[in-house]
Amino acid sequence: MSSTSYNPYETAQQQFDSVAEKLNLDRATCELLRQPMREYHFLIPVKMDDGSVKVFKGFRVQHNDARGPAKGGIRFHPLETIDTIRALAMWMTWKCSVVDIPLGGGKGGIICDPRNLSEREQEQLCRGYVRQIARNVGPFTDVPAPDVMSSAKHMLWMLDEYETIHGAKYPGFITGKPVGLGGSLGRTEATGYGVIYVLREALKELGIKFSDTTASFQGFGNVASHAVSLYQQLGGKVIAISCWNEADKKAYTFRNKNGFDVKELTAITDSYGTIDKDKARDLGFDILPGEAWIEQDVDILVPAALENQITSANVHKISKQVRVILEAANGPTTTDADEVIRNSNIFLVPDFLANAGGVTCSYFEQVQSNMNYYWEKDEVLSKLDTKMTSAFRAVYELSQNRKLYMRDAAYVIAINRVAQAVKSRGWV
Ligand code: NAD
Repeated sequence: MSSTSYNPYETAQQQFDSVAEKLNLDRATCELLRQPMREYHFLIPVKMDDGSVKVFKGFRVQHNDARGPAKGGIRFHPLETIDTIRALAMWMTWKCSVVDIPLGGGKGGIICDPRNLSEREQEQLCRGYVRQIARNVGPFTDVPAPDVMSSAKHMLWMLDEYETIHGAKYPGFITGKPVGLGGSLGRTEATGYGVIYVLREALKELGIKFSDTTASFQGFGNVASHAVSLYQQLGGKVIAISCWNEADKKAYTFRNKNGFDVKELTAITDSYGTIDKDKARDLGFDILPGEAWIEQDVDILVPAALENQITSANVHKISKQVRVILEAANGPTTTDADEVIRNSNIFLVPDFLANAGGVTCSYFEQVQSNMNYYWEKDEVLSKLDTKMTSAFRAVYELSQNRKLYMRDAAYVIAINRVAQAVKSRGWV
């Protein structure tokens, strides 16, 4: 769903190619890993509330499952594209691999705008999606999850349809389910918390105290809101947040130089992560253009909204004060902007490491669902912290030992593991 001319799939392939070259991967392995192994395109007819039938387009892409069942979210977006889904499926493979969980990479999407659909229409869309793909996904083949604009209630409708089709209970089919109905405690917070666990490790290495830092976020949805919350609990100060305003069809950046109170901000934010502009004004926040989040004089920049947000057009606007870019969103930096960051003093934590907390907790949910035995929240979050910390440490150490950019170090670890898996299985 690129709003610019950048193609995230091309970005994902370029990133892969440059690391494959460094790793000296053979031709067949490269060919196998630089594109998805399988993809499904289908139509979903939905009877709308007004009696008409609307036909939606759905996708499911399984990039690689050599290390385990494919895993990845289902996105709902009016501008969704197959190339975005391909890129995201590929990044899921590397993400599962870099945190060393036994899963492959997948992703799905429906071209739709749930904000303009009634509850009943959304349910029909979810059930229709599963009816089209039910034979090609499952707890031991491909396990979906929520993503942009999809949520726990959508996952439960999808699970219910899957179980109806297959005639038994399969709570491990899908993750991101509501707690009490097969969901894991801690899943809602997992991606955002994971982002901050790796930030904590990065700041330790850079010798920076949390309480001395300020941050600017793009996005205040599921990922960013929990990241902001933990970042604040650990002593950091968020001074700017940008989010999309659907009514005005543009983004705004809200700024409070004294630092936001996350509870106050949450109270004026809707379930799609849109901060109410009028209430924000009443609270005395500055309201700036959407792009302004990137120009703030802060120590940490956190793109946590969409892909292709740091580009050659705005990378030079990043303040000299910025020490860390924490890529909470998938693919937020274009290749040309990445070159600029690589050659700067900014320490970058790449997306598929920074935001791997979501899939790690999804994996925990799947394990719990398959056992039908659920852990306490503390246990989930402490296992998450352990996984994220050790993944960060491995990437950081490789980057130091081999003098590699953090993104390259993460890719080297992730691609190596998948390349070994396809070789060991005798696929190449
Ligand atoms: P979300 O839909 O809950 O929130 C998205 C946020 O971005 C909202 O606040 C929205 O207003 C804002 N936004 C959208 N367009 C914008 C624009 N042009 N400018 C400024 N803000 C804008 O989504 P999410 O689940 O928080 O996901 C955010 C990113 O993180 C995506 O790239 C997603 O793929 C990635 N991600 C999500 C998870 C997860 O567990 N939810 C896991 C890994 C990665």
